[in-house]
Amino acid sequence: MPFIARKDDRTVIPEEVGDGEDVICPSCSEQMRARGPFENGTARHFYHLAGSDAGDCNGVSGGESDTHRKLKSLAVSALRQKYDGQYTRCVPEAAIDVSQTETAPEQRQADAFLEFTEENRFFGRGIIVEVQYRNEGKDVQATTHDYLSQNFSVYWATPDDFQNDRFLIDQLEEAFNTGNEDAYSPYQDEPPSLTSRDQTGKISYGKERPQFTREDPVPDCSHAFVDIGGRRRCIRCDLCTENRVFDPQRQQFYRPKPHSEAETDAELLYDLESVEEPVSPRRIEERGEEPSIHSHDWRVNYNGRQEEWCTCSWSGCEATITLELDRVVIDHAVDATPDDGRPKCDHVWEELGFTTVCTECGKER
Ligand SMILES: [Zn+2]
Ligand SMILES: [Zn+2]
Ligand SMILES: [Zn+2]
Ligand SMILES: [Zn+2]
Repeated sequence: MPFIARKDDRTVIPEEVGDGEDVICPSCSEQMRARGPFENGTARHFYHLAGSDAGDCNGVSGGESDTHRKLKSLAVSALRQKYDGQYTRCVPEAAIDVSQTETAPEQRQADAFLEFTEENRFFGRGIIVEVQYRNEGKDVQATTHDYLSQNFSVYWATPDDFQNDRFLIDQLEEAFNTGNEDAYSPYQDEPPSLTSRDQTGKISYGKERPQFTREDPVPDCSHAFVDIGGRRRCIRCDLCTENRVFDPQRQQFYRPKPHSEAETDAELLYDLESVEEPVSPRRIEERGEEPSIHSHDWRVNYNGRQEEWCTCSWSGCEATITLELDRVVIDHAVDATPDDGRPKCDHVWEELGFTTVCTECGKER
């Protein structure tokens, strides 16, 4: 069954094409139309018009973005079948206004969107299915937060939720019934706090105690804060700080939108979650000196032994921070002994043809 067609120089999927609308098959260039979904579970799909020259053309399966769009169409078909007669709107790729929520975006695009005629006690105003395909990179936590805040339920589907050109809507139902981590409804879930994000991006609930505090939770450590991977973190005790604004009405801190007026009121707070598993302050060993030409821009990596280490992202800089249990080693990677008697040089690397040469001392790499 074809699920991809062309219309007015655009790729279209069945659920965005009305009955009787003519579209073109990208494979044989003959006319097609959309039909379905059907009661037996067959999703809405394209078909070649009888009497066309299509022969037994099966259309195209298309590239990755086409596949993703096809899955959205399948999800819409299944929602339409399941909630037949109960919705006012059920479409793919719907723009949802989230300007009133705490996150920066004003709008989000829901992969598959169903809006109920009457608000549903469990699902709220509607159901959104997000199809996670090939690490598309949607921010699960912030997106879930926005949809729940707008009183919509959201289900995070994966390609496993599809089989034989169908969206397995039973799995969605099951997920909502058991309240598992792929399904969020206004009835069961509070919008996840935007600040309780852990490293995997998973949502952590049940955070009753405040996460941010003005009081230093590790007073025994003489902190050494370093910008690492976008956070300000003490390399001795792992404590992180973040900019937050206090909301006196809700008596809690929130993350200000970038460049907002609130951002100017932000204060640096300690993040209690960063020291949930306390470590005794590490001893710092520093090798070499901070280079004068740049300040290191640290990125976090993990090595095979699951130790953390940071590398500087400046090209040519081989500085590292290695975090061990009881010590942290900062290696500025500045040559301790000059190669040939010349004074120590903070090399300034420049690409010259096929080699990289220091413009200060002429050393080649
Ligand atoms: Zn065709
Ligand atoms: Zn510290
Ligand atoms: Zn560096
Ligand atoms: Zn040099």
